[in-house]
Amino acid sequence: MGAGLGGLAAAISLCKVQIGVDIYEKAPNLQEVGAGIVLYPNAVNALKQMGVYEQIAKVASFPSQGKYLNSKGKVLVKLNMADFGPGAEAITVHRHDLQKVLCDKALALGAKIHFNKDCWTLEQDKDTVTLHFSDDTQVETNIVIGADGIHSKIRKNLLNDGEPRYTGSFTWRGVTSQLVSYPANLSLMVFGRGKQFGATPVGKNRVYWFATMSDQKGHRDRRSKSDVLKFFGDWTDPVNELIDTTKESEILTHNLYDRDPAVKWGEDRVTILGDAAHPMTPFMGQGGCQSLEDAIALAHCMKVNSNPVEALRDYEKMRQARTSDFVYQSRKSEAMTMSNSRIATMLRDAILPMVPSKLIAKQLHTLANYKMPEL
Ligand SMILES: Cc1cc2nc3c(=O)[nH]c(=O)nc-3n(C[C@H](O)[C@H](O)[C@H](O)COP(=O)(O)OP(=O)(O)OC[C@H]3O[C@@H](n4cnc5c(N)ncnc54)[C@H](O)[C@@H]3O)c2cc1C
Repeated sequence: MGAGLGGLAAAISLCKVQIGVDIYEKAPNLQEVGAGIVLYPNAVNALKQMGVYEQIAKVASFPSQGKYLNSKGKVLVKLNMADFGPGAEAITVHRHDLQKVLCDKALALGAKIHFNKDCWTLEQDKDTVTLHFSDDTQVETNIVIGADGIHSKIRKNLLNDGEPRYTGSFTWRGVTSQLVSYPANLSLMVFGRGKQFGATPVGKNRVYWFATMSDQKGHRDRRSKSDVLKFFGDWTDPVNELIDTTKESEILTHNLYDRDPAVKWGEDRVTILGDAAHPMTPFMGQGGCQSLEDAIALAHCMKVNSNPVEALRDYEKMRQARTSDFVYQSRKSEAMTMSNSRIATMLRDAILPMVPSKLIAKQLHTLANYKMPEL
């Protein structure tokens, strides 16, 4: 259920272990809109296992330099990915390009995608699950994977555990192709008080940026370019230019949500995956990466255990502790980088230059060295 990152990755991984897949997606087609995404070494390894790395590499960027600045332009940290050694590779890519590669691969492996299928509810008996759609149609199947995102209907049916939690931060995201002067190898993070800005190339001479702000009331419809410029326009170069050269229609606004980790992810012939299972804030850049790991783990469990109901429980056990850790780490990272306190901001700007790049490299290597099950 759902043709997002997690659903498409699960379809590819399941097809690779000879399990047929039908994807039901509520949108009329693959959405053209969407900003960029950073895929860390664990996700890169998952893409390699799925056999899509080469195609994604053709449309993506591989930033080799990183810089952390404060909003006035003072350099806090400088990173050179070459110093981090092999395996620390991260990919930055436009979401639409990533989804297109995943979708093409899923179709080539035999998965079917049914668009305009908004699933409302489901019911299970001993051998089947019936999905009910908003167009009054229904489908009977033997296993359902709810990869229907943060507002998952499948999760609601299984757990009925209320709405996700607004974290107190919201973000604007955009992609510009007008800023020819932006270095093709540079990832940038700029920190202010209760605000942060990031930018990175995403292939085809485009630069993806995000601007995040803390506000307990959410974005309150501050959707236009002038809204972003009001809060970030006087920041160090190239922040203003990146925002200013972005088409109004390419700017998206999101309130950020997560959930406390759930003890239960599934029941009988149904489970959940990706944001439906473990929504987390983007401060570790791991939400999408974890959904790719989920997909590999799910297919692995279905391959090695011929009892599908048991295999779903094996998958849940394999994934719960790891994804819960990232939910909590992402919260910590938000607390550290988005503080509104003047003292905390000054401390951060003083401490960051003292963080040895070896420590940052260690984090990337830990992600790269995560032992993923084999398909
Ligand atoms: C601002 C921001 C920045 C981020 N940056 C990063 C990053 O750099 N790196 C990273 O790894 N992660 C990042 N993430 C997280 C990442 O976007 C998500 O974790 C990832 O998209 C989850 O994939 P998914 O397939 O579970 O959900 P989604 O991508 O949300 O896909 C769900 C799909 O299900 C469909 N659907 C929903 N309801 C129904 C229904 N009822 N019936 C049928 N279909 C349905 C939707 O239309 C959609 O296609 C970021 C998130 C945000 C908000």
